[in-house]
Amino acid sequence: MSPRAAVAAPAGAATPRPRVRVGRPDPARVERVLRELARQIDGMELPAIEKISESQQTDPFQVLIATLLSARTQDATTLAASTRLFAKARTPKAIAKLSLKDIETLIYPVSFYRNKARHVKAAAGRLLEVYGGRVPFTVDELVTLPGVGRKTATLTLIVAFGSREHVCVDTHVHRIANRLGWVKAATPDETEQALYAATDARWWKYLNLYLVTWGQNCCRPVYPRCDDCAVVADCPRLGVTKVGHSRKGDS
Ligand code: SF4
Repeated sequence: MSPRAAVAAPAGAATPRPRVRVGRPDPARVERVLRELARQIDGMELPAIEKISESQQTDPFQVLIATLLSARTQDATTLAASTRLFAKARTPKAIAKLSLKDIETLIYPVSFYRNKARHVKAAAGRLLEVYGGRVPFTVDELVTLPGVGRKTATLTLIVAFGSREHVCVDTHVHRIANRLGWVKAATPDETEQALYAATDARWWKYLNLYLVTWGQNCCRPVYPRCDDCAVVADCPRLGVTKVGHSRKGDS
């Protein structure tokens, strides 16, 4: 397939799709999109982890645990479960003392709550045994904690430690970066590596916040609202075949 493949606009999308060089995006186009998203998300509801970070003074342990709980779970459910858990126990020592049953009850109904309860308790135990109760600040160390994958590790580093060296790629970032033609990647891990080459480093710590917020509000997994999208002129909408109902004109 030609890297400059031009495609027709899907039904319902009024703006013609721009031509893009997939995986080697025009830096000016990336810059325009990110600047516009920064404007657009101002005032939108923050993702759960950002809210937890704000309310807990960016406590690394609580950011880590909330991120672990957030996998495949609605933001509102993650926020409520984290709030209940941290009201009862907010340090590795306190959480390690809770019974599995207590943790399950506190975090229910997050998805896979039984597995996550085991991971939360085991991660707290390992932090106490190996790291003196402190959250380590490298990806390599973080992924040794039970239940912690690359996404949880990078988000913890960005949100809790202010890292500017990492991009956190979840399903929203993976999907939207591919639709925008910034990357052509099959998995979130591939997308993360491709984004280091495709975007300027000063945007890395913001990519997750911008694209997750945009993914929850506009560029949804199915039926993205391309007709309402502020960056449609810079988006080739790769892989998008059906768009959602426009809210323009709705009162
Ligand atoms: S909503 Fe449509 S136009 Fe906007 S970023 Fe997503 S795919 Fe591109």
